Amino acid sequence: MALNIQCFSVTPFRQNCLLLWDDETRQAVLTDLGGDVDVVRAEVAKLGLSVGGIWLTHGHLDHVSGVPDWWQYENTPVLGPHQDDEFLFQSLPEITAQYGWQYTPSFVPTRYLNEGDILNVGRYEFQVLHISGHTPGHLVFYCASEHLLIAGDVLFFESIGRTDFPRGNHDDLLRNIRQKLYTLPEYTTVISGHGRQTTIGHEKRYNPFVRA
Ligand SMILES: [Zn+2]
Ligand SMILES: [Zn+2]
Repeated sequence: MALNIQCFSVTPFRQNCLLLWDDETRQAVLTDLGGDVDVVRAEVAKLGLSVGGIWLTHGHLDHVSGVPDWWQYENTPVLGPHQDDEFLFQSLPEITAQYGWQYTPSFVPTRYLNEGDILNVGRYEFQVLHISGHTPGHLVFYCASEHLLIAGDVLFFESIGRTDFPRGNHDDLLRNIRQKLYTLPEYTTVISGHGRQTTIGHEKRYNPFVRA
């Protein structure tokens, strides 16, 4: 019995899309489905899972552009991010064109989320935390029982998210990391939107951008 995690490195930005599932109930969730939907769908089918939700940390193209493709096959509810990222979903056609990506239409997530909301993957419960700074509506998903944080583009191995995008805020990002993430148990595993995993304890000691 366990919470299983498989990571797909999707899009030219090598974004970490996660497939999470409870191996007893076979209920599954995807996070940050940025693209490469065919690859993800094939793996989900191979594992015999049914995806009950797609959770989004924030509205950047590499984290959300796969959703309209996925919706061509299945009407899976898309939860998150916080509504403050709505402007990013509205501007997806222009932003994807600007980056030379496949055209992505604007879309509206099924439900925006707020800090304190609780999400489930089978028997595993995740808390929603609102960490603005990289984008205004950025969320992270924390599973206390599994000591796991899905951190999107907030905190990386010895680095932090950029704040030079529209409506980024460096001070907010640092304050939120200190107040809401560095207060989690040190052994919490952090899976970020890009690059390798880390832990809260490692970042508190070695992150050059935000020390505890
Ligand atoms: Zn981002
Ligand atoms: Zn990203």
